[in-house]
Amino acid sequence: MKSFHPPQRTLMGPGPSDVSPRVLEAMARPTIGHLDPVFVSMMDEVKALLKYAFMTQNELTMPVSAPGSAGMETCFVNLVEPGDKVIVCQNGVFGGRMKENVERCGAIPVMVQGEWGRAIDPQQLEEALKANGDAKIVAFVHAETSTGAISDAKTLTEIAHRHGCLVIADAVTSLGGSPVKVDEWKLDAIYSGTQKCLSCTPGLSPVSFSDAAVEKIRNRKTKVQSWFLDLNLVMGYWGANAKRAYHHTAPINALYGLHEALVILEEEGLENAWARHDKHHLALRAGIEAMGLQFVVPEGERLPQLNAIAIPDGVDDARVRGMLLSDWQLEIGAGLGAMAGKVWRIGLMGHACNARNVLLCLSAMEDVLTRLNAPVKKGAALEAATKALG
Ligand SMILES: *Cc1c(COP(=O)(O)O)cnc(C)c1O
Repeated sequence: MKSFHPPQRTLMGPGPSDVSPRVLEAMARPTIGHLDPVFVSMMDEVKALLKYAFMTQNELTMPVSAPGSAGMETCFVNLVEPGDKVIVCQNGVFGGRMKENVERCGAIPVMVQGEWGRAIDPQQLEEALKANGDAKIVAFVHAETSTGAISDAKTLTEIAHRHGCLVIADAVTSLGGSPVKVDEWKLDAIYSGTQKCLSCTPGLSPVSFSDAAVEKIRNRKTKVQSWFLDLNLVMGYWGANAKRAYHHTAPINALYGLHEALVILEEEGLENAWARHDKHHLALRAGIEAMGLQFVVPEGERLPQLNAIAIPDGVDDARVRGMLLSDWQLEIGAGLGAMAGKVWRIGLMGHACNARNVLLCLSAMEDVLTRLNAPVKKGAALEAATKALG
């Protein structure tokens, strides 16, 4: 065996996205003890930076030491008690995972089934809440990475609160790419991931909990069934004025990486980061449409950071992605769940969201698709995208 040297790819799938060299360099710095006072003060900075990213004053804001799925699980196992009724809005793959979580908590999921590729319909949530007066929690995915649709988190939360429910929101793909305003929208529990628009390596999940959520967690009748994710215990390590007693060994170097990724986000400014995602999405869109390909999600419900493109009839999905990878060192995503084989998912996330990648992706797609005799218009995409970039 020899050392492993990965190839240099361009990551334009649903995550992980390209990691900034600044983040990789930060992660290569010396490992120190996780209770070292210098490390503990860095943890405080990570918490402050996450509050900035989530636009919240929530005291309980921190990264869970595991990927986005563990952030999801942290929200459910802490807030849901056996027998609780939980309304789950589903418009893609990740809403299905929320249902799984509810069931495994011994609770009762009530599904609001939306159309895949569309935003969640607030009216449908309203009706489900009217029919289920005893529901305690509403859960939804803000940015459905499996379809590329964004939902109106503010309106969904208003409706849930009007019916006396707490809200759990998945912001894995939205954070850093689209507005996520935890305090203004009054979200109660939210989780994200590091490898999407934060452009850090995978393996951490930023979470934030409102005072109402913390109160519910403190007053549980039953113990949280997961020892590792029980926030009552984790708070002793990450909490404000906590004694920083040993709970688990923090992934020290991964946290250096997150710290750097958040410093980069703060330097750019949230509003500028959102505007950059919008701008490059529009340029990609101009090129894609000039080529004769089509978006799956209707305009107005599209995520700028995740572009689902319909695969033309007769085109071999896996072959196209394989050629993009081998000939162009470019990774784009396949369809997931009900959309498998029907769409490509092109990510423009964080550090990967730039003009070079838009033009690279369009050139590579045009090259591969014309070589495979797919029905695309040649020579129009780059001009359209360049014009949109201004
Ligand atoms: C990627 C993703 C997750 C899961 O995150 P992992 O880090 O892969 O565990 C959850 N929800 C959404 C919407 C995602 O895009």
